[in-house]
Amino acid sequence: MAYDAIVIGAGHNGLAAAVHLSARGWKVAVVEARAEPGGAVKTQELTLPGFKHDWGAMNLSMFAGSAFHARYKKELADQGLGFLPAPHCFASVFRDGGHLGVGVNVEQTVAGIRKLSGHDADAWLGMLADFKETAPHIFGILGAPMPSWRTAGALWRAWRQLGRAGVYRLVRLMVSSPRDFLTANFENDKVRALMATWGMHVDFAPDAAGGALFPYLESMGNQAFGMVIGQGGANTIINAMVGLLKANGGELLLDSPVKAIGIGNGAATGVSLADGRTLTARRAVIANVHPALVFGGLVPAGKAPRAFESKVQAFRPGLGTMMIHLALSSLPDWSASAELGQYAYIHIAPDLAMMSRVYAEAADGLLPAEPVLIVGQPTAIDPSRAPDGRHILWVQVRLLPAQISGDTLGRIGAKDWDGAREAYADRVLDIIEGYAPGLRQKILARRVFSPLDLEREDPNLVGGDSISGSHHLDQNFIFRPVAGYSRYRTPVKSLYLCGASTWPGAGTGAGSGFMLASMLAK
Ligand SMILES: Cc1cc2nc3c(=O)[nH]c(=O)nc-3n(C[C@H](O)[C@H](O)[C@H](O)COP(=O)(O)OP(=O)(O)OC[C@H]3O[C@@H](n4cnc5c(N)ncnc54)[C@H](O)[C@@H]3O)c2cc1C
Repeated sequence: MAYDAIVIGAGHNGLAAAVHLSARGWKVAVVEARAEPGGAVKTQELTLPGFKHDWGAMNLSMFAGSAFHARYKKELADQGLGFLPAPHCFASVFRDGGHLGVGVNVEQTVAGIRKLSGHDADAWLGMLADFKETAPHIFGILGAPMPSWRTAGALWRAWRQLGRAGVYRLVRLMVSSPRDFLTANFENDKVRALMATWGMHVDFAPDAAGGALFPYLESMGNQAFGMVIGQGGANTIINAMVGLLKANGGELLLDSPVKAIGIGNGAATGVSLADGRTLTARRAVIANVHPALVFGGLVPAGKAPRAFESKVQAFRPGLGTMMIHLALSSLPDWSASAELGQYAYIHIAPDLAMMSRVYAEAADGLLPAEPVLIVGQPTAIDPSRAPDGRHILWVQVRLLPAQISGDTLGRIGAKDWDGAREAYADRVLDIIEGYAPGLRQKILARRVFSPLDLEREDPNLVGGDSISGSHHLDQNFIFRPVAGYSRYRTPVKSLYLCGASTWPGAGTGAGSGFMLASMLAK
């Protein structure tokens, strides 16, 4: 049981690292606690037979656009990787019965915006034109180790191509709050809400500094490139990576929780499993595990400098997520427009005021009165995920407290998630019902995962935090997860971290796993 590298955790980042190292001739084993690989990317029959639900991630645009995918596109396709484009990407519904959608057809998107504001329609087009020039520089920064000569090179190229004013605009975008950025560019509240909701996929309430970038990238990225989901389920990426790993001679050990990382002479030497087996690592142990579970958990306290350990323990989770999976007799009937049945995502977050409110309530420990909802309709794009004529709904409830101190509406008495889960899910369904009357009659079965359930399934989701650590500026870029350790190494020699808690953060972009493996393989 001796390997060049042992990867703890078969999340997509751990698998990306393992695939790249094994392709470069390293002998690699991936050791996964659960019976199935994928971490937050899994597809399972969670409700009824034949209904295939994405347990966590559904939108695979980040993976499709990643450097890892670009490098292994053919090999992954040979292993069965399949994407399906969602031409109607995302839409918002509003309290007055209106809606606004973004799809790959620019004219259609702009026509919707123009009905609300001619100024904003022109601003959208101007931003899209600007995005085509700016995006390569932003992706250059997001796709480089942080910090690195490549980051410096990306900034230098931006300076050469966009000029000083262009670079200042870029940096200003990166530090702006969603509200400041959107107010500066758009006059209509619905257009602002349409974009701002993307901040709530992460943990950027309208007034959080550094929160403008994600709404900008997602809105313009969906407009320019569209969205993709997995053919048959998001686990297509996991199955393909596992297939490629094995084809390269790598191994995947399932049902094998790592209990401890072995340390000798200040360096990681391997891992011990809960069942007593020991695996030796000649060159690297890579933990695709939340840093606070590594230091003080898998690595006993005192093996790293105290200052480092206390910074790791202070690494803040973002707020929690609930997932509601529904098996439906037919898709929801959105009262705003039948056209909404075609969209991959329907956002129910009608204005910036409610987004600020839900964040403040959840941060105070309160069950929000009206949470932000991301309603995914995968079977609108991929009917193969449900029996003929049937559908599924993927409802992500953002943002919720990990520990409940009370209910904003005073109606749910339980202070623990096992007690509050189903009642809160009912609140969510009532909200959707308000925009899509008759939904409840269509429900054949439901399965709800509270923030606590999410953490039980994947311990990296501390408190149900779907982004594995707040992305606020003090925990992003060179500060992720700890200043001085944003390039995946740790104070313990040969022990490296990757995953959503490390740069460039959450999502299915496989960035940390691939960048770390590329650095090691050099
Ligand atoms: C509900 C939800 C919805 C999301 N939606 C989207 C989306 O639509 N699009 C998108 O791009 N992103 C989405 N995300 C975010 C994205 O899925 C995650 O950021 C990403 O998948 C994290 O990948 P990872 O490689 O860091 O590790 P993880 O997926 O967290 O995997 C880590 C693995 O390590 C294993 N592990 C941990 N400790 C041990 C141990 N001691 N021994 C062995 N194994 C261990 C875990 O069991 C797990 O399998 C979503 C996340 C969630 C939770």
